[in-house]
Amino acid sequence: MNGQSNEIVTQEMLTSELAKAYEMRVSDLDVSIKMVNDTLDTAIALKCPQLVANSKTLIGLFLMIKGDFEMSQKASYEALEYYKINKNRKGIADATFNLASTYYKTDNFHKGLLLLLECKQIYADLVDHANLSKVLKAIGTVYEYLGDLHNAKESYEESIATAIICNDTNLESNGYNPLSGIYLKQGMLVEAMNLSQKSIDLKILSNDERGLAYSYYSRGKVYLQLLQYKQAIADFNRSLSIQTKIGDRLGEGMCLNKLGMGHYQLEEFDRAILYLTKAQLIAYQYNIMLIQYKSSYTLYLVYKKMGDIKNAMHYLEEYNSQKDLVIKQKSADIISSYEAIFKLEMVQKEAQLQAERMEIIENKNQELDSFFYRVSHDLKGPIASLMGLHNLIILEGFEGEAKKYFDLYHTQFIRLNTIIMDLINLTKMNSIEDNKVEINFRQLTMDCVNSLVYLKNFENIEFHYEIEENLNYYSQWVIVNTILQNLIENAIKYSKEEGQSSVKIRIYRESNQLIIQVDDNGLGISKEDQDKVFDMFYRATRQAEGTGLGLYILKRAVERLHGQIRLNSELEVGTSFKVIIPY
Ligand code: ADP
Repeated sequence: MNGQSNEIVTQEMLTSELAKAYEMRVSDLDVSIKMVNDTLDTAIALKCPQLVANSKTLIGLFLMIKGDFEMSQKASYEALEYYKINKNRKGIADATFNLASTYYKTDNFHKGLLLLLECKQIYADLVDHANLSKVLKAIGTVYEYLGDLHNAKESYEESIATAIICNDTNLESNGYNPLSGIYLKQGMLVEAMNLSQKSIDLKILSNDERGLAYSYYSRGKVYLQLLQYKQAIADFNRSLSIQTKIGDRLGEGMCLNKLGMGHYQLEEFDRAILYLTKAQLIAYQYNIMLIQYKSSYTLYLVYKKMGDIKNAMHYLEEYNSQKDLVIKQKSADIISSYEAIFKLEMVQKEAQLQAERMEIIENKNQELDSFFYRVSHDLKGPIASLMGLHNLIILEGFEGEAKKYFDLYHTQFIRLNTIIMDLINLTKMNSIEDNKVEINFRQLTMDCVNSLVYLKNFENIEFHYEIEENLNYYSQWVIVNTILQNLIENAIKYSKEEGQSSVKIRIYRESNQLIIQVDDNGLGISKEDQDKVFDMFYRATRQAEGTGLGLYILKRAVERLHGQIRLNSELEVGTSFKVIIPY
């Protein structure tokens, strides 16, 4: 086995190691973290930046779950930087999701929500239902924190529906807990109990321990409301032991607070204080404001019931000031979050409208093209017979004034004929089939030049050719012919009558592009006219006959081949058109 395939094998192994670590997170977070750290070291040693970034994203995720928000952000930002440089949208969304979670879990709801909306968009674009469901659930949580139960409920329901689409029962059950919490807040206890029970059953089935911890917590809350304190405490204890085992600080703090509440209701004050002090410790250590003020309030209730006025007052004040802080921050955040959401929705709506507009324009263009095509074709017949009639008149021997007027008629017919032919060419451009042939550029150029001998200044022009052999270029002949014909025709038409005129035609390959370049030393185009000459019917000079359609047709032809046109020109010096077409 050679070195390269060895490397591929190692990379595959590391990738599967990361997948294992991810699976493991629900049962043993510390083992997962160790596995990813080992993979990260190997990926760094192997100089494999993609794997380094993937490892850092996972570290970001695990540390976020663990509550080490600072280190989680560090890892996620590092990964994000790599993904952004490499335009890896999935990576960007994964790392952003970690960051969003660290923000909203430390009460920076506004920033969290904005980042989550970014992830939502990316996952939706990538049709990644599993991650979309995860993000929708998190968005619901933030709405709930912000006190917007309506939007929270909608997000949870959407999360569940998205999980069902991708047949992921685990994700589906993740949505049941918070939805049950909303039912609870709305006093719908039976529905709340049903959902949390359903979630517990599914979590046991799927072996998702962390999810199970949240499901017990959720049922515990319903028991609290049902005044079944013993059952509630049992559920919170079940949840706590899992949270402690897997090291989820937020979950731990929440359980401790609820255990305090349960024992308070049972008037087991010592136990209540013990749990609540532990909750406060975690809340302060990890800056989890939500647990700080909730546990302060429960402690106030406990001391009040115990008749310890001094302590009761202390915790009441603490609760009030913390709550004020949260409320102030919340209302400011709610306003700015909603403004941001509104703006985001507007941008999305605008983009959709724009797409619809483009579709309508596209349809209209097609209709217009076929209308043009039919009209032009229908006009060709009468014009041909008018020209024929002119010949008959000449044969009849008209002389003098009458002949002069008929000749004028004739000149106008020819002009009309040229316009119609140009229009037909233009409409042809849109209906050309994808019929590609190898283009013989030398032959094509000679044919073009020879077809233009009738032009006024043709004899005065010295032609130079630099045409690379074996260009091996395949394309629609009609389009390439249109490009060359228009460029050469203009170079001849707009040559100077005095002095030696020259036209240089160069066709060559430059890296992966085909270049068709026609240079002349003719009349040139003023700077002001250079932008306009590609417009329909625009003519910068009347020095030669024309319709003003040639360069417009050229532009359309080059667009069909996904190419570009560079125009360089100076009045009285000359003009250079360079057409660049990707192979
Ligand atoms: P037409 O030649 O029928 O007028 P085109 O669309 O081909 O229409 O060109 C538009 C205008 O650009 C011309 O009227 C002319 O003024 C200018 N032009 C195009 N090619 C050249 C050139 N090689 N040298 C000078 N002027 C040019």
